[in-house]
Amino acid sequence: MKYVSTRDNNKSVSSSFAIAHGISEEGGLFLPETIPALNADEFSKLCNMKYTERAEYILGKFLTDFTEDEIDYCVAGAYSGSFEKNNPAPLVPLGDNVEMLELWHGPTCAFKDLALQLLPYLMVTAAKKQSDGKNIVILVATSGDTGKAALEGFRDVENTEIIVFYPCDGVSPMQKLQMTTQAGKNVHVYGIKGNFDDAQSGVKTLFTDENVKAVLSKHGFEFSSANSINWGRLAPQIVYYISAYCDMINQGRDLSGGFNVVVPTGNFGNILAAYYAKAMGTPIKKLICASNKNNVLTDFINTGIYDKNREFYTTISPSMDILISSNLERMLYILSGGNAKYVTALENLLKETGKFEISEDMKEKSASVFYGGYCDDEQTLKTISDTFREYGYLLDTHTAVALRVYENYVDETGDKTTTVIASTASPYKFPKSVLSAIQKDVPAEDFEAAYKLSEITNVTIPQQILELKNANLRFNDVICKNDLKDAVFSSLGI
Ligand SMILES: *Cc1c(COP(=O)(O)O)cnc(C)c1O
Repeated sequence: MKYVSTRDNNKSVSSSFAIAHGISEEGGLFLPETIPALNADEFSKLCNMKYTERAEYILGKFLTDFTEDEIDYCVAGAYSGSFEKNNPAPLVPLGDNVEMLELWHGPTCAFKDLALQLLPYLMVTAAKKQSDGKNIVILVATSGDTGKAALEGFRDVENTEIIVFYPCDGVSPMQKLQMTTQAGKNVHVYGIKGNFDDAQSGVKTLFTDENVKAVLSKHGFEFSSANSINWGRLAPQIVYYISAYCDMINQGRDLSGGFNVVVPTGNFGNILAAYYAKAMGTPIKKLICASNKNNVLTDFINTGIYDKNREFYTTISPSMDILISSNLERMLYILSGGNAKYVTALENLLKETGKFEISEDMKEKSASVFYGGYCDDEQTLKTISDTFREYGYLLDTHTAVALRVYENYVDETGDKTTTVIASTASPYKFPKSVLSAIQKDVPAEDFEAAYKLSEITNVTIPQQILELKNANLRFNDVICKNDLKDAVFSSLGI
């Protein structure tokens, strides 16, 4: 299977090239030329497999220049032993029609672990095939969870250095602590004065800066990305939607009418993976894209106009505080029928004016697949409290946005189809916000809030979070958003 770039149809590279490089040289994103379909036989086979086997099978469809042994090795390394009960993606029912797909039982308590435990293995394997012998420098812009998950995945991985930039006032205290205490010899962490979009565009600029690349190359380094612009982040995420389908079939759910998927969305990576699962033949009906008050995607889905010229809000679901959803570019490519020229024009408009509008034909296609909705912080908190009272189930702030938008969808459409909600983080990453939904009196200190939350709800605090309390602070540099290049050079000692 060949990979093309969203901005250049004539690019034709292997999956290992796409993963090792992360982004195409003209700034486009790599994606498979066609989407492989699974037939009924294959779905039955998948139903009889365990998670790791499903992952091997599905990844094999996309990573066609990896050998079977290589894929098995990568998957085993990623998923054996690092997830609670060796189940990376358990389903937990909430009422009759809803299944929560809990994706946060990995080392950093966010869904990012599902991809970022695997990506280092894929990247090292891919880099060997590309055989240019350079050390890989992973640059990461994070809205909170990617940074930690990438640091944990790449920590002490041979021939790699990882440098993470997070918005210094745009992540939760627990998320920040997770990053600033990160262990490992090859890890570097910087706060930046700015928001996630500043971090992401700063990193993207470095990726395409020929001078910087030349300096790196001279010193034996080359850049890659662990953000969801890297195809190696997306492919592992397709697996859990297909796996959720198989689990529901195995439980005897009647899915003859298909099922809906709700995803709390920021950079459009997770929901794009769900789109791929659907396009491969998984009977997904509607993809419900849930946003917080930064509702640029809601408006886009409802009007076909993407307009980032609006106020940026810092919310209690910080990992969704994003106005430039980079993975939408892949969706635009697919919706336009693979028209790289058109996508380039739209992306240029976005860069120059902050705005673009898609064709009527694309709007129609998009509306048949996606439903978009959003909610504000107050509604998010109310959803956490209502859900805890009704079901004794504790949501994090991001997943609560998804549930609220789903409830609005049901009110609006009356659609009672079985629905899978992607549950993207442990509530203990945001203990003060979550506790404030349940009781008025909230301790000023995050760990105190976590203890209190656990006492009231009987939901245990993950060990990884508890351990942060006594971890050593290693990284407290905060830099200007224009100084990313200097930070990279100084991290690499050049
Ligand atoms: C990253 C993240 C999201 C958004 O996912 P995208 O793939 O960027 O759309 C939602 N919730 C949590 C907890 C996250 O960490």
